[in-house]
Amino acid sequence: MPTLFEKIVAREIPADIVFQDDRVTAFRDIHPRAPVHLLIVPNKAIATANDIADADETLVGHMFTVARDLARGAGIADSGYRLIINCNRDGGQEVFHLHVHLVGGAPLGPMLSR
Ligand code: 5GP
Repeated sequence: MPTLFEKIVAREIPADIVFQDDRVTAFRDIHPRAPVHLLIVPNKAIATANDIADADETLVGHMFTVARDLARGAGIADSGYRLIINCNRDGGQEVFHLHVHLVGGAPLGPMLSR
């Protein structure tokens, strides 16, 4: 079964895609938690951070350089932003296709609530 995000990558279900190349796709989160809330995903399915293979190092690095460029493009590089990867139950992961959240555009507060 393809993941939800694989379907977005393949444009089988709609999403507001802001960047795509042969390795990654970035699109707006459907329930934004900040003025800027993008998801950067590998085009191939990697379920969680636990499933990143050594051979995926370049791909995962590319996810971060794309996030950096998208932050610049959104005008939030200097004001700041947060990159988040949730993993499994305690991490609050809901979609089991690796993704980096890029959130910013407003003060984000403490990293974790108590
Ligand atoms: P997670 O909790 O897995 O780290 O985050 C999953 C994110 O995917 C959530 O922020 C959620 O709002 C977003 N999301 C879930 N379904 C969809 C969808 O169909 N389209 C888009 N654009 N985002 C989605």
